[in-house]
Amino acid sequence: MRSFKPNHWNILIGLILGAIVGIVSHEIADRSQFLKGWLTFATDTIAYPIGQIFLRLLFIVVVPLVFASLAAGVARLGDLSKLGRIGGRALAFFLLTTTFSVVIGLVAMNLFRPGNGFNPETRAELMTTFEQDSAKLAITASAQEVETTIMRINQILDMFLPRNIIGAITQMQMLPLIVFGILFGVALSLQSPPRRDEMTSWLDTISDAMVTIVGFAMRIAPYAVFCLIFVVMSKFGAQLLVKLSFYVLIVIGCYLIQLFILYPILLRTTARRNPIDFFRRSIPIMVTAFSTSSSNATLPTSMQVSQRDLGIRPAVAGFVLPLGATINMNGTALFEGCVVLFVAQVFGIELPIAKQGIILLLCVISSIGVAGVPGGSLPLLMIVMAQVGVPPAGIAIVLGVDRLLDMGRTVVNVMGDIVTAAYVESAEQREDIRAGLRMDGRMDAAQ
Ligand code: ASP
Repeated sequence: MRSFKPNHWNILIGLILGAIVGIVSHEIADRSQFLKGWLTFATDTIAYPIGQIFLRLLFIVVVPLVFASLAAGVARLGDLSKLGRIGGRALAFFLLTTTFSVVIGLVAMNLFRPGNGFNPETRAELMTTFEQDSAKLAITASAQEVETTIMRINQILDMFLPRNIIGAITQMQMLPLIVFGILFGVALSLQSPPRRDEMTSWLDTISDAMVTIVGFAMRIAPYAVFCLIFVVMSKFGAQLLVKLSFYVLIVIGCYLIQLFILYPILLRTTARRNPIDFFRRSIPIMVTAFSTSSSNATLPTSMQVSQRDLGIRPAVAGFVLPLGATINMNGTALFEGCVVLFVAQVFGIELPIAKQGIILLLCVISSIGVAGVPGGSLPLLMIVMAQVGVPPAGIAIVLGVDRLLDMGRTVVNVMGDIVTAAYVESAEQREDIRAGLRMDGRMDAAQ
């Protein structure tokens, strides 16, 4: 896989400057209508398009990159039992880390109860301000609800095995693309070796070309990230953050526990890696996830960094990372649990432990279906709220600070995939050693 020059320090500077300039502009513009007009002009006609060009350059490569690297990765595995083994390990690890993350969130929310005694006037004010946004989300959420059993079965099948793969791809559905990529790779591995190798080499070239396009995006990344964060922060306003500070601090605290306590323990014990070195090498991935708020947009960077700097073999990275970006959302599951409990506390709704068990289950399941795009979790979160008797419209209370928390949870989501890939890589290395020993044993016996 070709590489693009890392400029993550410049991106980080762009991110910090964008946040500072955005917050300061918001505070200044708040004082005059004239300045407010200028700020809207600057965000809408200058910063927004620049940020979007960068994001779209990342999004545009996702479909060909996922397909080409997954199909080549699977074809290269050779032995199909390896595919089952890698897939099984990755899925078990995804499930384990996602469950842990929801437990962290639920425990923190029960311990600190940030929603208790939340000012009723602030609650009413936030509900009115974000009423329209939550109504729009409710429409998306109700569109995802199903009625009959046949509809439900079809809907589940459509999620990963649609009738028309092109139709699914045009709607940016990743799961069908992954299934198709795996099927293609399996079928390719069954072709005659010269034909299989020729096609695999074509697929490698497609992946390399896609990474080159990511390189183009990375050239404008520091400016684009400045613009992305500036747009978010200039609309944000520190006042809202102050009102919801307790809730925000707890959610961020949970992200940090997951990121800097749970993941390092897993890295040390299951992947036998030095967590400090691992995280240092993963900085470009974390910066991209934080600034784009999208697992999908971060995928090209994670694929490249994991193979180039983290020593993860292409077959593992090409399989685990696209799958993870689509179904493994640890940070999102954690966040969902926190929101459900917070809104319940604000409304004075008691959620006994058995109900919290259901919330745990629903958060794990719903996070699988969340799209890896900014705010992808919100419609599904409303469905979870409705199912446990917490008013979905209450989401309005937290919508104003959501983008900030989205940036954090995307980092947790993406790092969950990278840690899983490191674990699978280390397990595969152990399998290689075992296979080597078996081979040596056979050769000794033959002599
Ligand atoms: N922004 C998240 C991601 O792409 C999804 C979400 O939780 O809204 O990973």
